[in-house]
Amino acid sequence: MSSNIYIERVCQCCNSKFIARTTKTKYCSNKCSSRAYKHAARREKLEIAKIEASITGKIRTKVNFPELVGKELLTITEASALLNITHVTLRRWIKESRIISSKIGKKHLIRREYLDALIQ
Ligand SMILES: [Zn+2]
Repeated sequence: MSSNIYIERVCQCCNSKFIARTTKTKYCSNKCSSRAYKHAARREKLEIAKIEASITGKIRTKVNFPELVGKELLTITEASALLNITHVTLRRWIKESRIISSKIGKKHLIRREYLDALIQ
């Protein structure tokens, strides 16, 4: 389908001038069009996430503290959240023997009592 319409437009993505062949054209090239589409999709996704967070009243966190109550052995993620340090720091402390952990397979497990004693 070809048209004999020639409209000078400014691309909404890169702000460069181009000749549009339809009245609805917004972007100068396919590249700009897909870029704008991706941007809009991302923005929409973010909006949905924000709305969901406001409905449930919470932003997802990795570790939920009430879940740790009564748990005797903690993973690296849980223990680092409890100590308010990063998992990298905790791994370093374990390597430096500043914290005692049991290694089962590839997983480090740390006693809750030990951490509680360490904090006090
Ligand atoms: Zn453009």
